[in-house]
Order: sequence, then structure tokens, then C-alpha cells
Amino acid sequence: MTHLVRGIGVSPGVVCAPAFIVRMDFPEVPDRAVKPEHVDAELRRLREAVDYVVSHLQELGERVLQRAGPEESRIFDAQILMVQDEDFLASVETLIRNNQLSAETAYEFKALELRNLWSGAARLRERLADLHAIQLRMLNRLMGGAGHELWSIPADEQVIVVAHELSPGLTVQLDRDLVIGLISEEGTRTAHAAILAHSLGIPAVMGAAGALAAIPPGTLLLLDGQAGTILLDPTPDELDDAKTQVSRRHRLELQLEAVVDSPAMTPGGSPILLMGNVDLPEEIETAVRMGAQGVGLLRTEFLLTGRATLPSETEQADYFRRVAAAFRGHTIIIRSYDLGGDKFPAAFKAPVEANPFLGWRSIRVCLDEPEVFRPQIRAVLRAAADRDVQLMLPLVTLVEEVEQTRAIVLEEGESLRRSGIHAAESVPIGVMIETPAAVLIADRLAEVSAFFSIGTNDLTQYTLAIDRGNARLADRFTPHHPSIVRQLHQVLQVGRAAGIPVSVCGEMASESLSAVLLLGLGYDRLSVSPPALPLVKWVVRTVPEPAAARAAESALAAASAEDVTETLRSVVGEYLDVRLLDPNSALPGQRRVGTLPPGQTL
Ligand code: PEP
Ligand code: MG
Repeated sequence: MTHLVRGIGVSPGVVCAPAFIVRMDFPEVPDRAVKPEHVDAELRRLREAVDYVVSHLQELGERVLQRAGPEESRIFDAQILMVQDEDFLASVETLIRNNQLSAETAYEFKALELRNLWSGAARLRERLADLHAIQLRMLNRLMGGAGHELWSIPADEQVIVVAHELSPGLTVQLDRDLVIGLISEEGTRTAHAAILAHSLGIPAVMGAAGALAAIPPGTLLLLDGQAGTILLDPTPDELDDAKTQVSRRHRLELQLEAVVDSPAMTPGGSPILLMGNVDLPEEIETAVRMGAQGVGLLRTEFLLTGRATLPSETEQADYFRRVAAAFRGHTIIIRSYDLGGDKFPAAFKAPVEANPFLGWRSIRVCLDEPEVFRPQIRAVLRAAADRDVQLMLPLVTLVEEVEQTRAIVLEEGESLRRSGIHAAESVPIGVMIETPAAVLIADRLAEVSAFFSIGTNDLTQYTLAIDRGNARLADRFTPHHPSIVRQLHQVLQVGRAAGIPVSVCGEMASESLSAVLLLGLGYDRLSVSPPALPLVKWVVRTVPEPAAARAAESALAAASAEDVTETLRSVVGEYLDVRLLDPNSALPGQRRVGTLPPGQTL
């Protein structure tokens, strides 16, 4: 029997509990015809099931609202709208009437048609997961099967949920008192569900291929959400190891937290600006607690997760002000909607494309859709009235994109002024460097930008031609590839020559070993995922500048990502026990967790 299943660690923490398998398999629906005189009854059954599912979803949304918050609970709004879709229901009714079919037979047929239509498009994945969930609920109701819930976790036992795929909706529904870990066969660190699991603090491993086949229900699992490993039926020794590891990590965390109040300063006394990346509103508090000096990346597209409509200008302005108020005295960098690619919330109606990552996404969408972009710009201007709020544009490849945005900002600033609305007349506009195109014309972009921030997630994807969401290629996806190191060096030089700040806000800045590389290259501002802030700050305070510079110099001359990682490990290893650093700092293909040697203190 398999003893170890590997995946990608997407939400840290070590937990041990029995496996609870969530199979979202559809029930067997028999082809059932009905007598003509029973057609009306089938039509009524269909409508009754819709009402039932809607009220159940409302109830679920209410429960999630109490447990998680308004953003998470909105996920159910989209499902409710989908269940009530009149065009779809009318097509099911026509089928029941014309072919004298039972409600479940007709419903399944039409849902299957829709699934086939949608499944060709990567952009509809998120919506397919919603469709899957409501189809299951409808069929269960119509067939009198499974009661209230799709699956129910015994209330007296903590479990680790194992599923093929975790949708954000499924993730937020989980009762955090009972579900202490998550495993899915699909998904990567950038999947929405992974981001939610992280923000909800549930240790999770995704991209664990073969997990469902390998893990029988009830198997005791030992999950490490950082290393991305799952041990089946751990031996007493392995459990003891895990316990020691947990308590060491706990000690490490306490020690790291002690660093939170110390300044982010190198041993040589140079200050480093450590800002936070904020994706979900719940992260504001963590970022503040972890000592973030402002927000270097406020991802706004997650405001749309699970919503059926775009948030209004005022709703956005309120949110931006709330973030700014939490970080008084610091800069807040709001990124305009980065829609498209793998982010297709229901509120964003996008066309089907063969290659969404190379398609209509990010700044391209915003500039083409004034009704999406302008309210957001106005909200940013309103939040900037009394605070240091700046605007950042994702996926820029053209100077014109910045110029067009500036024109819109000025127009909206003027319009707000004329309407007597309290707002700034303009804001500094910065550019994300996320494509080789932007790197190569960085000098020209610098002429029209107030700052640069490097999105290494996308820059790695577009440079290496590796889909950042593909679990199979996860080991090859590394910002340590010399092509990325050289681009990081190049952009910093261009920014310096132009006199504009350059920071890094991709995940790389949150990985301790990579952070050393960035410091060595000369970066003095990083925007980091809030839970990673203490470790990054500890690294900043511990590794002397000359050592980091030496590592960066070798990395610039290296021939492979492995060489870069090894150089970093050996240089940094002179000052730190590299096993302490996060697993992503390990060589590609050798991701494993480090442990503190007994008695080791920082
Ligand atoms: C990036 O691409 O590195 C980035 C920070 O943006 P996102 O991860 O949201 O695409
Ligand atoms: Mg990006």
C-alpha cells in the first residue's frame, strides 16, 4: 500500500486525522418517461426542487457568513443565480413537456449539455465547479437521495477532507472545527481554493495526483501543508517525529513573531521596506499583525469571487479606505482588476478563448471595458483623497496602456471634482513587470511610471513558457531560472537609472531563500504574503549584505536554476540553517521540509 502521497503544499501546518473522502459523483439517473397526465406534476417537482435548493443555498450562505465573512458567503449568490436561471429552466421544462420525461432525466440531460459546452473553456472552470455543485443538489433533491447536505462530516470527529478538486465554494463551506486539513488531486498554489484555504488557516496540499485511489476512507493521515506531503497510516515513530516537528515549528514561530516588532534592517543597518500582499479582506488583520509596512499589492479581483455582479464604486472605495485606515502612515498599492487567465469570476462575462493566459486579460480587459475600469479608478481616487494610495497596472506590455490609464485617471479626477465628491485629482500610477516585453522596454515604461513592481509569478510563466497553474510542471516552475534572475537585475538597474522605486510582489519575495537573492541583487522593497513576513524579516536581519550580494553575483552567472538554488543554499548556509527555511527554497524536485536541529535557537 502507498505510504506517501506527494503534492504541492499550499497552506502551511502539520495535522493528523482520518481521511474523509468527498466524492462529488453524480447519482445514476435512470431514463424515466412519464405518462402525459403526469407531466404537470414533473414540472411542479422541478420548481419545488429549485426552491428547495435556493433556500438551502441561502441557509448555507448565512452559515458561512457567520463563520467566515461576507466575501466568502457571496460564493453562494452565484450558485443561487445559476439554479434560478430562467433560460436553462425553460429548456428543461420544454424537454419534460415535449418528450414526457421525468424532471431528473430532463434536468440531467440539459445540465450535461451545458457542461459539455463549458468544459472546453478553461475560463469557465470556476463556473463549472458551481454548476457541478448545483446539479448534484438538484438531482439529489429530485431523486429523494442524500438529505440536506451533499456529504456530512460526523460532528464528533475532526477529519482531513480528500477530494478530486476543491472549488472555492466547497472550501468555504467547510466547518473549520471539524475539517482540519485539505487534500485535492487538482490545483496549485495559485488556485482560488488554495488562496482561501490559506486565508482560512486550513493546512492544505493540492495537486496530489492519485490521492483518491491511494487513500481509503478513514485512513489516518499525517498532512504537511508546507512540504506538500501526506503520510498514510503513519508509524508511531513518524507521529513522534511530526509532534517534535510541530513543537519545533511552534517554537520557531514564536521566535519569529518576536521579530515582528523589530525593524526590517539588514545586519549592516540598511532599512528594507517589507509590505504585505492582501488578497482577501481577512488578510488585512494578519498583515497588520505581522508588521507589514503598507500594502505592496492589493489584489482587487478577489472582491468578485462568487459574486454575480461587479462591486459598485462606493463599495470599492469603502474597502480601499478600510485597507488604508489599517495601515496609517504607509503606502497602499491598489492593483486594478487582474481578470482573465485563471481568474474568471461569474461577474465578469468573458468570451471563450483557446489560450486565456495569452488572451484578453488584465489591463487589456480594463481598457476595453470602461464600465469595469472607470468605477474602480474613481474608487481609488476617492480612497486617495486623504491617504497615500497608488494605482498599479498588471500585465502591461505597452507604453500606451499606461498613458491611456493616466488619461482616464485625470478625466475621472476632474469629474469627481466637478461633482464635489471628496477625492484626489490623480494618483501615482505604477506598472507591474510581468512579461519579457515589459522587461525589454522597461526604460520606456519608466518614463511614464511612478514605480515598478515585479510580478515574478507571471514573469516566470511567460518567460519559461510554463503554465503557473499546471501541477505536473510545478517542479519546473521556478523564479531561480537564470533568465528570471537576469531580468530582475536588469529591471532594477533601469528603475534606478530612472529614479523610480522597484519592488517585487510575486510569490518569490515570500520565499526566504529567494528573498535573499532579491536582497543580494539590490532590492530594498518587497511585498510579501502576510504569513511569510516574519520569516522574511528574520532573513533580512540575519544574512549580511556582502553574503547576499555574493550569492546574487553567482546567480547572475549561473547556467541553471539548480545552480542558482544551490549557490543560495551554500552562501546562506554560512549564516542560517537552511533547513529552517521554507520548503520552496529547496532544489526543484527536492521539496522537503526543514526541521530545527534539537536545541537550535535563532
Ligand atoms: C505575479 O504575477 O507575480 C503577481 C504578483 O500577480 P498575480 O499572482 O496576481 O498574477
Ligand atoms: Mg500576475
